[in-house]
Amino acid sequence: MKKVLIVDDSRTILMILKDVLKDHTNIEPYFCDSYEKTKEILKEHDGEFHAALLDLNLPDAQDGEIVDLVAQHKIPSVVLTGTFDKKLIESMEKKEVVDIILKNNKTSIKFAINTIERILKNYDTTVLIVDDTKLYRYLVSKSLKKINLNVLEAKDGQEALDILKKHEDISLVITDYDMPKLDGLELTLKIREKFKKDQLGIIALSGIESKDIVSKFLKFGANDFIHKPFTYDEIATRVNSNLELLELFKKIKKLGNTDYLTSAYNRRYFFESGHAIFLKAKRKKTPLVVATLDIDKFKTINDVHGHDVGDVALKEIKVVLDKNLRDSDLMARFGGEEFCILLEDINLDDTEVLFERIRQSFEDNIIEIGELMVSYTVSVGICFGTDSSLQNMIKVSDNALYEAKENGRNRVVIHT
Ligand code: GH3
Ligand code: MG
Ligand code: MG
Repeated sequence: MKKVLIVDDSRTILMILKDVLKDHTNIEPYFCDSYEKTKEILKEHDGEFHAALLDLNLPDAQDGEIVDLVAQHKIPSVVLTGTFDKKLIESMEKKEVVDIILKNNKTSIKFAINTIERILKNYDTTVLIVDDTKLYRYLVSKSLKKINLNVLEAKDGQEALDILKKHEDISLVITDYDMPKLDGLELTLKIREKFKKDQLGIIALSGIESKDIVSKFLKFGANDFIHKPFTYDEIATRVNSNLELLELFKKIKKLGNTDYLTSAYNRRYFFESGHAIFLKAKRKKTPLVVATLDIDKFKTINDVHGHDVGDVALKEIKVVLDKNLRDSDLMARFGGEEFCILLEDINLDDTEVLFERIRQSFEDNIIEIGELMVSYTVSVGICFGTDSSLQNMIKVSDNALYEAKENGRNRVVIHT
């Protein structure tokens, strides 16, 4: 949760804000209705606020003094105003507020909160600016820092590639066209050899008149194009909307790769990602572990306690496995109460120890659901080594699982 300061003296606006904020569980709002109260809260929570939403007209500060007060604490702010006059906008732009929004209805207030959300996300978002002209790097960088982004700069395409190699967390590249060493188009092509459009965004930025360049950039894989000269508002809005699209792509991808109930990966993702791991191990001639894990007598839990309790028991599998596996291990729900795990860089002894520990963890685990205590054991079948395909390894682990069930359940069987 991130602390957000909200200043407004109108009860109606505060009520709407509270209602809108119900859907934003990552925001911890602090409400103030006057300049003096804001001063106190800022003192009390110095350095804790990540963003602010400010009303310009307060009973004890009628001319936007609140903006300066909050700026002194280096908190990025969005301004809500009842009137839109040009002078006011100009003076606010000088004060570097992120956005000025007219508060006329619930939609505009929702929009203001979305802008706050964007500011919060931008704390963890990095953008790379590539331009050979220092002035443009400065202007773009200034616009982006104003919306709270982390900014890196490169003076040509080659330097940009070097920076991309070092910083894996870059979400978006904003590139000029005409540059020495490697121009913007060549850079776009090079980036697209490695990153798809939904992994790393590219916005081209050029003063060149030729319409050809725009279509070329887009064909080569840029996500968007901005003409020079640009305004602060245009850069900020385009960058934010491109970042939002990239996040949406990620969200959709995650939905397609995970199981709704347990939030473990699904079968499709297991094969997609497991195939690459399998090929790598085959090339390096190193052994792999494929383990199939299945709850013992799970049907009984459903029959005795009902399907909802069964669902909780299923979710617990991911919790217990997450505690015992490394981040790099691949684990997926294969269907029903069967999970599959793929491990690399592990020897036979460690495999035995690890899965015995996992089996024991389930045996010792008691799930409390209200008054109810539920526990269950699991059986695990393991294929250790290498086979002709990942599918074959799964088949072998399945046979081992069958053997574990036949021999009394709550046990680990390894086939090498
Ligand atoms: P065994 O020890 O031989 O594995 O017996 P079992 O009862 O665990 O296995 P069986 O295959 O007979 O039953 C699996 C049950 O899992 C039947 C099915 O209704 C239940 N199941 C599958 N998916 C879900 C789910 O998403 N939620 C719940 N609650 N139950 C599920
Ligand atoms: Mg240039
Ligand atoms: Mg079962």
